[in-house]
Amino acid sequence: MQFLEEISSEGLEIARNITKEGPICDHCLGRQFAQISHGLSNEQRGMILKAALRASGEALGEGTCWVCNGLFEHLEYWISTALEKLTEYEFNSFLVGTKVSGLLLQNEELLWEIAGALYAEPLKAELNREVGKRLEHETGKRVEFETPDIVVILNLWTETVELQIKPVFIYGRYLKLTRGISQTRWFCRECGGKGCERCNFTGMMYPESVEGLISGPLLEEFNGEDLVLHGCGREDIDARMLGSGRPFVVEIKEPKRRQVDLQRAAEQVNEANRGKVEVRELQYVGREMVAKLKDAQMDKLYRVEVEFRSPVRETDLKKALDRLNGALIEQQTPTRVLHRRADLVRNRNVYSVQLVSFDGKQAALQLTCRSNAFFKELISGDEGRTRPSLSALLGTPAEVRVLDVLDVKVGIHGEDAADREDVC
Ligand SMILES: [Zn+2]
Ligand SMILES: [Zn+2]
Repeated sequence: MQFLEEISSEGLEIARNITKEGPICDHCLGRQFAQISHGLSNEQRGMILKAALRASGEALGEGTCWVCNGLFEHLEYWISTALEKLTEYEFNSFLVGTKVSGLLLQNEELLWEIAGALYAEPLKAELNREVGKRLEHETGKRVEFETPDIVVILNLWTETVELQIKPVFIYGRYLKLTRGISQTRWFCRECGGKGCERCNFTGMMYPESVEGLISGPLLEEFNGEDLVLHGCGREDIDARMLGSGRPFVVEIKEPKRRQVDLQRAAEQVNEANRGKVEVRELQYVGREMVAKLKDAQMDKLYRVEVEFRSPVRETDLKKALDRLNGALIEQQTPTRVLHRRADLVRNRNVYSVQLVSFDGKQAALQLTCRSNAFFKELISGDEGRTRPSLSALLGTPAEVRVLDVLDVKVGIHGEDAADREDVC
């Protein structure tokens, strides 16, 4: 027998010492020699060793294994419990993990003190592998170590099976067709979401959000628990998002289904939110897309309606807009976001400003700028914190009244968005 030759008489002596501690199962005995002879299971190694010991006249104790406490005799419990939980979920790949109880860890340490851990593998490695093999066989799905759809956790403390479900990530673009909708759910500042008079007992700062509006239909399609929207930047609540829409990734948590027809899903979302929110171009992506979106450089095209406190002359307005066209502006953190951002002076690029219409007290403009330009302040001047500004150039207060994002162009990882059409 090749295995016996490889472990030699020295190894057999170690095995003999182990069996003197008390009854031990084939798995636990064989596992102490797991590094020797490939192509055998630990159980087979244990059987060979026990046969050799018996042949040399050793009397081996019978009864429950003192190391694993009978764990390997009860593999069927773990396999059937895992299978039962898994039937609810759609998945292609999985991985088995074990939370080993303190008692078994102590037993294993004790065993390694006697036997040395030179050729051994940990108990949980064997359990993971053996249960994994069986689950592969029963489900026809494969074990994957990198990014499994489901991690099956055998919790030996509680004797239960827990599942960790990988979220589904979907990229798309959204349009916001009416004002007053926030991008993500925004809990009430007064009550933190419990419900109070300020929020009309909704728990929300704003009754509707893009995230909230798309979550119902999408969670139903994927049979998921929760949904998080990661936007590629965000527009103000009072701004519409038009044109080709804003890129986003939704993360669907604990989906029971993960192979949904996305065109159908988009139709469900759009059907439920007519005139409010529309999604387009849905496609499956990996988790890494969330970080890419957050790092993305964006150029945005805005349409703003501006109101002047006192009438201005068209020639003055055109002169002021010429000054802002292509300008590098100096902007100290706007007063309205000071509560959540550091007070710094930043340089911002305004790529272009165009006059669309004008009637003496009001003007409609189209602006293109980098995502992080706060252009409400470009108009108002924010009490001198943004320089230059349309207010300062005209010598009369000017305010943005209405605002729409007409387009978002995205470049990823520092690529110049102006040269790139929609890389994300
Ligand atoms: Zn055992
Ligand atoms: Zn509230």
